[in-house]
Amino acid sequence: MSENKTDSPQAFPCNECHAGVLQPRLITYFTWLGGELITVPHFPAWICDVCGRREFDEKAILWLEMILDPNAGRPTANHRRTPPPPRPRPGTHRAIHDS
Ligand SMILES: [Zn+2]
Repeated sequence: MSENKTDSPQAFPCNECHAGVLQPRLITYFTWLGGELITVPHFPAWICDVCGRREFDEKAILWLEMILDPNAGRPTANHRRTPPPPRPRPGTHRAIHDS
């Protein structure tokens, strides 16, 4: 009944090279959010020890998207957003002659 090979429960064969094994690692994850580069240190990832392919933990990705997007999971029923009206900049020297 001990047919389950659980000698390395935290290792998956690589789908890319089929030779390496994905090893759990903590890396620095880079992602773009609205034109801003976000870096997440100590992000859990799986790295192939042969070809270097990266797989990310699905749960970790979901968690990351949730904390990065404050509107995640919220219904977008009321997305009426009125931008503030453009204001004239104070400080511009303009001679106004009232007569
Ligand atoms: Zn590989």
